[in-house]
Amino acid sequence: MNGYIIKNSKIHGKGLFANKNFKKDELIFKVDLSKLPKIKSKNKLSEEQKFHIDYAGRGKYVLATHPYVYINHSCDPNVLIKHETISKSKFYAMKDIKKGEQLTYDYGGNAMDQIDKELWTIKCLCGAKICRGTLSTCFLKQPIEIQKRYYKYLPQSIKRKYKDKFKGVREQN
Ligand SMILES: [Zn+2]
Repeated sequence: MNGYIIKNSKIHGKGLFANKNFKKDELIFKVDLSKLPKIKSKNKLSEEQKFHIDYAGRGKYVLATHPYVYINHSCDPNVLIKHETISKSKFYAMKDIKKGEQLTYDYGGNAMDQIDKELWTIKCLCGAKICRGTLSTCFLKQPIEIQKRYYKYLPQSIKRKYKDKFKGVREQN
């Protein structure tokens, strides 16, 4: 049995929910995008599929099939993503999670193709008490404490590529 289930979410559309209790720091699942076929043209994808595109590195995108694509954003998330590489990551419980709770992660710290690019900003509807109000997936547009929280879990290739832009983040670590 998987530790998670897809259900309708109050945050947005469908969401992913815990189907068992997780202890803080427990591995929930691993994601490996490296073996998936690369997308040649986005025009052939359905609207639903377009939401499930993920960046696999080297300028290539894949259609992610793993249920992690249903995880919604929260400014006060319960899931932490640690990237081994751009395409390989592990999802951990950031805190104790009870069966039935919705799984969420912070979209601001995890978009590997949007470190210094802002593709969109929307009003955040996550409902957390500490909600930042707006949601952007650009890493460097996040408040510095958010950048510091997720910097250490970025893959080495990203840390190298944006070394100069991360200067402020590293100095305050
Ligand atoms: Zn929010």
